[in-house]
Amino acid sequence: MSINSIQNNENILYCLYARKSTEDDERQAMSIDSQIKEMTEMALKEGIIIKEIRQEKHSAKLSGQRPIFNSLLQDIRNGVFTGILTWAPDRLSRNAGDLGMLVDLMDQEKLQKIKTYSQTFSNNPNEKFLLMILCSQAKLENDQKGINVKRGIRAKCSMGWRPGIAPLGYMNRAFGGVKDIIVDPKRGPVVKEMFERVAYRQQSGRRIKEWMDKIGFTTRNEKKIQISLIYLMLRNPFYYGYFEYSGDWHKGAHEPLITKEVFDEAQKELDERCIPKVRGKTEFPYKGLFNCYTCGTSVCGEEKYRKKKNGSTNYHVYYHCTRSRNPNCKEPYVTEIDLIKLIKQNILNLSEETLKENLTSNIIDELYKYQPIVEEIEFYKRDDIEYDGKVDLKDIIVYACSKSPIKFRRELIQSLPIPKNLHNLLLI
Ligand SMILES: [Zn+2]
Repeated sequence: MSINSIQNNENILYCLYARKSTEDDERQAMSIDSQIKEMTEMALKEGIIIKEIRQEKHSAKLSGQRPIFNSLLQDIRNGVFTGILTWAPDRLSRNAGDLGMLVDLMDQEKLQKIKTYSQTFSNNPNEKFLLMILCSQAKLENDQKGINVKRGIRAKCSMGWRPGIAPLGYMNRAFGGVKDIIVDPKRGPVVKEMFERVAYRQQSGRRIKEWMDKIGFTTRNEKKIQISLIYLMLRNPFYYGYFEYSGDWHKGAHEPLITKEVFDEAQKELDERCIPKVRGKTEFPYKGLFNCYTCGTSVCGEEKYRKKKNGSTNYHVYYHCTRSRNPNCKEPYVTEIDLIKLIKQNILNLSEETLKENLTSNIIDELYKYQPIVEEIEFYKRDDIEYDGKVDLKDIIVYACSKSPIKFRRELIQSLPIPKNLHNLLLI
């Protein structure tokens, strides 16, 4: 290593930024770990000092954004870093907005250098121009790829093959470059019987679960099935041969496990059972977990019924400060629905590492029990081929913070390193 390179770089505070590829398998050759390995080796060789390594593992499925990248930009604005080290320019910019922000930071001289494996971009007109060209090229390739992928998905659907991972009871198969969906010989017959038990013997979800546990039925992760997953499956027309994709219905090419008649009978039974529960003693799952920012008292829950003009009533649960310290506290009320949204947003802003550090192993074990249901729900929500059917702990936490049993949910939220003060409908 030359003295020059050390002198050149000694004033730059580098952050190593690594991000996993969202493209399909063959382009995923460079994993986050290998990106970091290659770049730290290069830094060592060139005498570059890396102040911090940040990795974007969460593929932005739920949030539609890159929390780690955004925090990196913020830290550059604040002078924490003055350089970025990354595998390739396309790791940094996925759209014109991201690229614009990087170039702006260079123009403002807050970002002095971007170093990739093969290039260096400093704050001079030529190198900034080259950076923009390379990023635009990556975007062009990506857009074209997106069009091809969409065309491929449409073709697949019209041939009757549901893209993505097949529902429980089926298996995805690939042979000689052809992909299809076949009945899972182990689980398929059980799923068929599950529908028949509901349709003709009026068995409840709870009965079904008892029976499935007794015969040793498991999900793809070898876990006992959850009752919520049973209900999700019982509502899925895929089992009698149809599926919805991107808002369109398709007749599946897969072998139906049940007839439409059995499915319809089961739906009738499910609808009848679905008697709205009378809300008895109301529980407020989120009470006492947050504090009022203005007066410092804890936040409690309250039910409110509002008569609407057409005569019907609107029901909402609100959270607000107890006003025990200051009866005139002006903090606004927040609905339970909005409070849950706030909690989820704040979880998405955290890295998976930070979350793990703050949770006990008991809580993490309990969370992984929800993995199968979260995977199944995500599967139905997904619209893109990029979805690999895998969910991470963060996805599970987001689910559990509104859907798990109240006692566990409270313990989980208490442990989460999210802001706990409520102020102007935000958590700060
Ligand atoms: Zn208050």
